[in-house]
Amino acid sequence: MPELPEVESLRRYLVREGIVGRSVEQIELETKPSPESGTGAISGTVNLQGKTVKTLERRGKQLAAVLDQGVLGLHMGMTGQVNVLEANEPTPRFTRALFSLSGGFRMALVDPRRWAQLRYFESLDQAFSGLGPDALDPKFTAKYFAQNLKGRTAQIKPLLLNQSIIAGVGNIYADEALHRVKISPAKRTNKISAKKLEDLLVAIRESLERALEFIQNHPDDRGRPYIVDAYDDRMQLHRKPGSFCPRCEIPLVTLKLGGRTAYYCSNCQK
Ligand SMILES: [Zn+2]
Repeated sequence: MPELPEVESLRRYLVREGIVGRSVEQIELETKPSPESGTGAISGTVNLQGKTVKTLERRGKQLAAVLDQGVLGLHMGMTGQVNVLEANEPTPRFTRALFSLSGGFRMALVDPRRWAQLRYFESLDQAFSGLGPDALDPKFTAKYFAQNLKGRTAQIKPLLLNQSIIAGVGNIYADEALHRVKISPAKRTNKISAKKLEDLLVAIRESLERALEFIQNHPDDRGRPYIVDAYDDRMQLHRKPGSFCPRCEIPLVTLKLGGRTAYYCSNCQK
């Protein structure tokens, strides 16, 4: 699933390709609508023709093109990807929306599983509503993070995945960060010291930044961001049965917390 590092890589790629400053000429949506959300969501509700992209913003896993009027939000779902097309390049398979912008700029939202969402919002605040501060936002300090979590009785890992507390921490990066600071994913948050919680935010950032750097250094042959593989060298924890703790060299254990599988070391993570 595209997480913060993948979405930030996509944002930088689209900016690099020159999306900012172009105006929308046409958006062709796949005709087959998805029942509740999905790429059909902007169909018929708003006319974006002629609107210009001012900036491309991100908070957590949510991307938002700020237009001269309104905001177009993009959530990548499980398998979404955006490709800028070369002149005369045929539309890729699984294209759910094809954008034609001024100057011959075309890009395709490709999504085999059709869970990506395109939504129109009145403002950036609305596009990002319900999201806490971005995990990489320097204004979001470790002290503030620790104060926010301190005293909560919930287990730590589900709190990290709660996007209204901190935006952009997904399942695999939460496991990575908890391993770095030797905290069990099942630990009650009020049993963790404020200092340790501050260390946790630092570890979250290190895990996300390491992944971001990896993705930047491994583009595909067209310069597009590499998309998601939980088993690659971005990760210190190898998420498969029988893999070992890189510190203790004993097998990792798994645990279901809040519906997500945690991988952790029962020896060094307490
Ligand atoms: Zn260990």
